[in-house]
Amino acid sequence: MSLSTIKDNLEQVNSNIVSACIRSGRKTDSVTLIAVSKTKPVEMLLEAYAAGARDFGENKVQEIVDKIDKLPPDARFHMIGHLQTNKVKYIIDRIYMIHSLDSVKLAMEIDKRAKAAGRVVPCLIEINIGNEESKYGINPKEAAEFAAEVSQLTGIKIMGLMCVAPAVDDPEDAREYFVRMRELSVDITRKNIDNIELSILSMGMSGDYMVAVEEGADFVRVGSSIFGLRDYSKL
Ligand SMILES: *Cc1c(COP(=O)(O)O)cnc(C)c1O
Repeated sequence: MSLSTIKDNLEQVNSNIVSACIRSGRKTDSVTLIAVSKTKPVEMLLEAYAAGARDFGENKVQEIVDKIDKLPPDARFHMIGHLQTNKVKYIIDRIYMIHSLDSVKLAMEIDKRAKAAGRVVPCLIEINIGNEESKYGINPKEAAEFAAEVSQLTGIKIMGLMCVAPAVDDPEDAREYFVRMRELSVDITRKNIDNIELSILSMGMSGDYMVAVEEGADFVRVGSSIFGLRDYSKL
């Protein structure tokens, strides 16, 4: 990590995204790269910003609150981690999108706070696509019903689905999960639920983002391939 800079890494990831788009017949500008900056200092986010990054992914409310005012106003912050209801109020007026909507209780709190703040907050439904015990997210089988339930809440706008695919050694093994995400999105869209417009798939991380792009990801969330490995020991 000492040799390659954040700028180099961003260029490499962006060029890999473009190649994956070309391979799969997609428009090369159809994917948004979210630079996942969790645990990283503001200086590194500013370096990424200077290199062109505008979308940042964080998984802790406290880190968003600490970092957001230190970046230029056109930086967009995405909440990608599990969000506790009692913390919604700290980010409601400034978060660009919440990718981790995973319960009706959370949806109701976001709705209430969004209305109080006079905004509609874009959200993605987190899907536990591998049905893993260890992961948050809605069971794929219950996703349509969940979408219908939260569609009534006018303080939130459901824009799509998000997943963290099961950890695999070979990124090819993640492909089936991304395919299932796309199919699930199509299935729910066909139900024509009011106020639900599933146009975004947020999927793919450092280990598997190229496969995710080939299978239709609109947002990829890449951390360590841009900022280097995370050191949790100092937190
Ligand atoms: C940390 C994290 C990422 C990025 O992970 P990398 O493997 O470092 O790219 C993406 N999505 C979520 C939800 C995360 O928590």
